[in-house]
Amino acid sequence: MNPANPRYDFDFAVAGGGPAGSSAAISLGQLGHSVVLFERETFPRFHIGESLLSTANDAFAALGVTKRIEAAGFPEKWGARLITHDGQTGRYVDFANAREITRPQTYQVCRQEFDRILLERAREVGVDVREACNVTACEFTPDAAILDVASRGNTAAARVRVRALVDATGRGGLIARKFNLRTEEPRLANIAIYSHYTNVPRLEGPRPDDIRLIACNDAGWFWLIPISKELTSVGVVLPKTLYRRLANGSSSEETLNRTISDTPVVAELMRNAQREWPVRVEKDFSYSASAYAGNRWILAGDAGSFLDPVFSTGVSIAMESGIEAAAELHRALVRNDFSASSFAAFSRRQRKRFQTFRRFVVGFYTPQFRDVFFSPEPPKLIFRSVVTILAGRWNAGLWTRFLNQLFFAMISIQKRLNITPPVFRRDRDAGYPTRTRSEDPIANGVRPLTPPVGQR
Ligand SMILES: Cc1cc2nc3c(=O)[nH]c(=O)nc-3n(C[C@H](O)[C@H](O)[C@H](O)COP(=O)(O)OP(=O)(O)OC[C@H]3O[C@@H](n4cnc5c(N)ncnc54)[C@H](O)[C@@H]3O)c2cc1C
Repeated sequence: MNPANPRYDFDFAVAGGGPAGSSAAISLGQLGHSVVLFERETFPRFHIGESLLSTANDAFAALGVTKRIEAAGFPEKWGARLITHDGQTGRYVDFANAREITRPQTYQVCRQEFDRILLERAREVGVDVREACNVTACEFTPDAAILDVASRGNTAAARVRVRALVDATGRGGLIARKFNLRTEEPRLANIAIYSHYTNVPRLEGPRPDDIRLIACNDAGWFWLIPISKELTSVGVVLPKTLYRRLANGSSSEETLNRTISDTPVVAELMRNAQREWPVRVEKDFSYSASAYAGNRWILAGDAGSFLDPVFSTGVSIAMESGIEAAAELHRALVRNDFSASSFAAFSRRQRKRFQTFRRFVVGFYTPQFRDVFFSPEPPKLIFRSVVTILAGRWNAGLWTRFLNQLFFAMISIQKRLNITPPVFRRDRDAGYPTRTRSEDPIANGVRPLTPPVGQR
């Protein structure tokens, strides 16, 4: 029972203990609220999503974990090495060039350890963290959010009554599924196949642990992410249509091996690599949300929306949105107004961030974007503004946004005239999206599928 108000068991509940849930819970705890966090797994647990953006440093500072993250010994990330399938182009996305960034250097993390650090911090600030507790249902009355929680090893489900719920259940999407909030992203209908390997050589030079992003000459691409001294996360992302054609009945392991051997630069890097875990496959990971908050609930991280992993935005957005969700609920408590309409600014901010990154992500799966993005000599000023957004500063100043418009103008021109030599195959069968930006409802801010008012 919450001693401050016996009508509630706690002020707030958080469902999910990933980066979004922990960040929301820590921030609410730091603001002095009583918080319970339910996590269905027992930590440490495996999770994909290992490469962070520079802006993650701001989140670490806000959450009070900077020193702990520094001490954990995660490989340092200063940016990304972009490489074409034949190894010909070796552009560098250098976060040190980004504007409006507090600190460019960030990390690539082993998620078992990273998520554990955040969850421990939540405990430290007084959050009641309950692992092996699955939130099975939730309902919302005018004055409370009520959760059903099943804990492992305990047959009777518990009911918990709070002022409001942060849904941070990731792709599980507790509330998104309840209220049918999700819209799939057909332009990002991709599949990822990956595992962790030892004996993958690191980059030469002063920044050996940067992520390598290696583009196939069709729409696929590889990530190679050092996540510890020994381990490198290696995966390929392919459009579903291409994947089906390639897989053609073979196992995910065979498909991964085939795509590796078909891409000369990756084949060379993986020559002595030793796989340490079974190959995993993930699909249907890109979607948007028609609402990010409603009466007495708020979504953070992947529980709201998620973009394809190509620009490593997921964890950094998850932490940022968790912190924002907490600030929003704190304000709601002060005003004593937990209505959907009072959360409108929060929802707008989530949507804006999603759309800013989405433009780059959708662009990446077109050959013209890749021609310009991978080009060895792109205009410096423009590329610097692109790097600023990709380092995580999605809400950059006017000048940066203007230069980004010029970048996308260059891509439009590349569709008609070759301002840079075309390197990537114009192969529609490979799964390239064919709709133009003006035909794309999400890019144009058309909100799909709004749930009936009574349900929100
Ligand atoms: C192939 C792939 C590669 C990726 N690579 C990157 C990358 O390089 N960099 C990056 O930043 N991001 C990457 N991501 C994205 C990243 O994995 C996610 O964006 C990030 O984990 C989101 O954090 P979250 O806290 O919102 O959700 P999660 O990390 O998924 O956490 C959700 C938590 O909720 C728990 N949960 C679920 N349902 C319930 C329930 N009903 N009750 C209680 N608990 C529940 C889960 O067990 C889980 O611990 C990648 C994603 C994919 C698919």
